[in-house]
Amino acid sequence: MIRVGILGATGAVGQRFVQLLDGHPYFRVTALAASERSAGKPYRDAAHWTLDTPMPEIVAGMEVQTCEPPLDCDFVFSGLDSSVAGEVEAAFARVGYPVISNAKNYRMHPDVPLLIPEVNPDHTKLIERQRWNEEADDLDARGYIVTNPNCSAVGLVCALKPLHDAFGIGAMHVVTMQALSGAGYPGVASLDAVANVVPYIGGEEPKLGEEPGKLLGTLTENGIEPEAILTSATCTRVPVVDGHMEAVSVQFNDHWEMEEVVEALRSFTSPIDALNLPSAPSPLIRVFDEDAYPQPRRHVHLGGGMQVSVGRLRECELLDVKFIVLSHNTIRGAAGGAILNAELLRAQGYLNPRGERLGVM
Ligand code: NAP
Repeated sequence: MIRVGILGATGAVGQRFVQLLDGHPYFRVTALAASERSAGKPYRDAAHWTLDTPMPEIVAGMEVQTCEPPLDCDFVFSGLDSSVAGEVEAAFARVGYPVISNAKNYRMHPDVPLLIPEVNPDHTKLIERQRWNEEADDLDARGYIVTNPNCSAVGLVCALKPLHDAFGIGAMHVVTMQALSGAGYPGVASLDAVANVVPYIGGEEPKLGEEPGKLLGTLTENGIEPEAILTSATCTRVPVVDGHMEAVSVQFNDHWEMEEVVEALRSFTSPIDALNLPSAPSPLIRVFDEDAYPQPRRHVHLGGGMQVSVGRLRECELLDVKFIVLSHNTIRGAAGGAILNAELLRAQGYLNPRGERLGVM
């Protein structure tokens, strides 16, 4: 078993980590950390548990610590607020911990993988370029940071990947309808959220402009060469509990036929299928023929919340093809995605009990 610490364990994403790691075949939670407000309390008192399964017994009595190294674990997941994630994650990496983060702070750092295992598993090689502690020559003593993308970018890029491979995407227009849990807890005030739509989410639209290019980019000797995809994004908050839905139109660089587009999505096999990772859904993408699907309430839990749903595939009057994509924001888009990242890193030899780390694929 590899021992795991969770930074930001009390938040919306932190609670998903705790839930999804309960009974995990490789990872066991041995440390929980959050702000000074929570530190010193047992987890059951520090976390306002909002999930629909009971809090796992194994963590309920565990004392929450502050987010400072050392913690009694082999690596950490981070579900920290971005106001503190930058400093805290670097502090852990500097003293040798692998940090697998959901926060935005290092996503676009040239040496930090922005990872979706089914899309760009080779980008983990960037880890070998990281030098958080110049004095740590020994590979084993070196920490690193790996990030997962913005919760809307995850579902979007999973759907774009087969299309980009087949036809090359030159431009896209996307309108998101993002769930309330995406704003953490307590999140959006009820008077703004109930029976309403808020047509702005601070900081989201630029992320959809830059993250897909890095995710679909090519690993070279000098780092990632991003794909140039001209993007127009509008991000909205809707009164849905879990599940980000997106209306997407894409323009292709190459010749396409509608049946080839549908086939590319239906037949996509991910490059990690053969690894049989515990959190990997199979298939990655579920394509619906029904006009009224996918819907958050009905389909967000497919594949344990890790599958990405695509529907309403049709020709676009302005660009080439348009469709709807739906994915679970705190599972596929956050904690579940980060756990899958850790499973891939373990399979590639980057994640081991401390002292045995950084074997290379
Ligand atoms: P959240 O519910 O507000 O939780 C934030 C966590 O950070 C809590 O555990 C909180 O601890 C901790 N924290 C806040 N200030 C701190 C400080 N000064 N020192 C140490 N810990 C501190 O937020 P969330 O929705 O879980 O999001 C967490 C991160 O994941 C964010 O960076 C977010 O952008 C990213 N993310 C979220 C989603 C989503 O769907 N929610 C999806 C993808 C990525 P206390 O409880 O002690 O205050």
